[in-house]
Amino acid sequence: AKERGGNRVHVFNTQQRTLLRDRMDMGVHLRGAVARGELELAYQPVVSVAKREITGMEALVRWRSPQLGLVTPDRFIPLAEDLGLIPDIGQWVLVQACQQARRWLDCGVGDFVLSVNVSGLQMRGQQVIEDVSRALDGARLPARYLELELTEKAIMGDPDHVASLMRELRKIGVSLSMDDFGIGHSSLGLMQRFPVNRLKIDRSFVSAVPNDVGAARICRAILGLAHEFGCTVVAEGVETPLQLGFLERNGCEYIQGHYLGEPVSADGMLARLRNPSLR
Ligand code: C2E
Ligand code: CA
Ligand code: CA
Ligand code: CA
Repeated sequence: AKERGGNRVHVFNTQQRTLLRDRMDMGVHLRGAVARGELELAYQPVVSVAKREITGMEALVRWRSPQLGLVTPDRFIPLAEDLGLIPDIGQWVLVQACQQARRWLDCGVGDFVLSVNVSGLQMRGQQVIEDVSRALDGARLPARYLELELTEKAIMGDPDHVASLMRELRKIGVSLSMDDFGIGHSSLGLMQRFPVNRLKIDRSFVSAVPNDVGAARICRAILGLAHEFGCTVVAEGVETPLQLGFLERNGCEYIQGHYLGEPVSADGMLARLRNPSLR
């Protein structure tokens, strides 16, 4: 009964029904979560391999639901996309992240780049240009402190349109990175058409090095490709010194992962920024 297609009528089994039910429950609570102040941001350090120093952080959204507890974004972001809640959530994340960056700067910490994830749905129309400008202006944050992360999937929805938006965003002065590189529909053509500053190697490859020969080849190929196009590379999901060693030997510029720091609160991040050296 697992076969798809044909004239077969698909009947939900108990497990699927429970999943659907969970999703509907979650959807009900997710509507209005922004207005009720239930979202928060965690920040994970991004570390320079050469300097062994924190050079930035990625903002990662969490949902603290009174009914469901703490919900991670891979559970609610796809649902938010389906329910049309992304414009609100995406804008909330941008504004909060920029205001937090301003607070860190006001505390006198040195330079950093704050990375914010952007959904493909935020790349429809021209709205994102205005949203980013407003978030920066509202926080009095110079654009060079902000990087936007886009997945290949987000880019491939409407490549020509997204490419033109990306050029506009670069004109504003923000930098761009291609997230989860390697798992989607990446092609060499992509590199030439999209003005990105950094590539982020997906955790699925990083977590398999150095032992998995195939993953090691893919990591080296991505590093070569990025450098050929003048981009730097962030490896995500680094959990061990062996993984760090492999990436260092192969010229990876930045790493992110539990080995160097899990996502923490804004105050936790401030403490780390005050003492950025890991040596
Ligand atoms: P991502 O952009 O690939 O973010 C990295 C994810 O890997 C984060 O999960 C992070 O906590 C996790 N991670 C980092 N280092 C390690 C490690 O060493 N080991 C393991 N096992 N995991 C590690 P998180 O916070 O649950 O976020 C999941 C995804 O949700 C993100 O994947 C991103 O695609 C999406 N997301 C998060 N925040 C936002 C947001 O504000 N907007 C949008 N559109 N998507 C977001
Ligand atoms: Ca990301
Ligand atoms: Ca990623
Ligand atoms: Ca990932």
